[in-house]
Amino acid sequence: MRVRFWGTRGSIATPGPDTNHFGGNTSCVEVTTDNGAHLIIDCGTGAHRLAGHLMSRGEEPISVNILIGHTHWDHIQGFPFFGPLFVPGNSVAIHGPEGGHGSLHEVLAGQMEFTYFPVELSQLPAAITYHELSEGIHTIGGVRIAAQYLNHPAMTLGYRVEADGVAIVYLADHEPFSDELWRADAEPGHIASILHDGDRRHASFMAGADLVIHDAQYTPEEYPTKKGWGHSTYDYAVRMSAAAGVRCLALTHHDPDHNDHFVAEIERKARTLATQCGTGLDVFCAYEGCELALEPLTTLTPFVPPTWAHAPVSHHRFRVLVVDDHPDMLALIAGALQDEQYIVSTATNGPEALRMIAEQAPDLVVLDYKMAGMDGIAVTTALRVMPETESLPVLMLTTNTDEPSTRAGFAAGVTDYLTKPFSIPQLTSRVRACLARHGSS
Ligand SMILES: [Zn+2]
Ligand SMILES: [Zn+2]
Repeated sequence: MRVRFWGTRGSIATPGPDTNHFGGNTSCVEVTTDNGAHLIIDCGTGAHRLAGHLMSRGEEPISVNILIGHTHWDHIQGFPFFGPLFVPGNSVAIHGPEGGHGSLHEVLAGQMEFTYFPVELSQLPAAITYHELSEGIHTIGGVRIAAQYLNHPAMTLGYRVEADGVAIVYLADHEPFSDELWRADAEPGHIASILHDGDRRHASFMAGADLVIHDAQYTPEEYPTKKGWGHSTYDYAVRMSAAAGVRCLALTHHDPDHNDHFVAEIERKARTLATQCGTGLDVFCAYEGCELALEPLTTLTPFVPPTWAHAPVSHHRFRVLVVDDHPDMLALIAGALQDEQYIVSTATNGPEALRMIAEQAPDLVVLDYKMAGMDGIAVTTALRVMPETESLPVLMLTTNTDEPSTRAGFAAGVTDYLTKPFSIPQLTSRVRACLARHGSS
């Protein structure tokens, strides 16, 4: 399998002398398998030059699969400039996560309305198809591809491509689920020792991969002021990859404020940390034009996704119960979820919540941790001993970011654990992911 980086920058394209080495174009990676399957992952501004490269090879017609992790600008801005779209006879299949605001087609067409762009999407002569993906295993261009949600304030999928005896995993944009990575009662450096279920799932998704391409937009020093924006630090990416037994880690989605000198310094620090982890992990900062040919080193273990029941989230009106003893917070969350077309009811304390759950059988409970009287942990514990609610998804909201509280939440049986303060897009993405995995349809 061959991998080539056409765009390594996050957020906004930053061409110029200061970014010449690592590159100024936004996210775009080309993957080619030995039998000629052609995948493009993300369609940031890097896709423009990739398109030129494809067309200069003179192959006609061109047939490609584009996998979009999510539809933030830096992952779709190259799409209107993707040359093969303008040639009759070419075929372009676009894949991306379901459950965002509007369909994949609507979102891509939106950035090509006449206000923004001279040619509308419907005028493009190539045969374009749209495929909305859920978590799980897909076959795209004859290649086995696993998809799993990332932690980002938009519905975002990471992709694991398995072909030619190797696995590459693309994970942008993603933020740690928890500030604390390890359980206090376990030896750090192993997947089983990861505190938050979300981070553990993330590490399992990359387990044994030959190449992981991971968001590493920030340094640990920068992260506290950027929390909630949906990006990782290089040390998180290194520690997770090492725990997951990854062979090689490419750090990407470089911050637009980081020049070549700064990114090179990140690379130096990441390599030092990888050496300290002691797993033989090779790490580098991805740069535009970087091309890798991956050969199998060991027998590939195909990824097996968790066995939860997937529910289609796009066309189903889910019922959500919101439980919080702070009226302002309750109104804020309920309003945000109503805007997302959920059928929302509310409760202000634990006993009332249990009564309403028994009466209404909601698809999901958004539950405050700290409440007077019966707290969120006690509510969850009560739900888990009853057969009707033992698998009801519970998204716990809390200001308690410490390790013992997080561990207590998961021990009680919460499905996901989201710490305050959070943004509305963060909340709605996590609600959607919970429902997609566990919601009854
Ligand atoms: Zn991005
Ligand atoms: Zn993003």
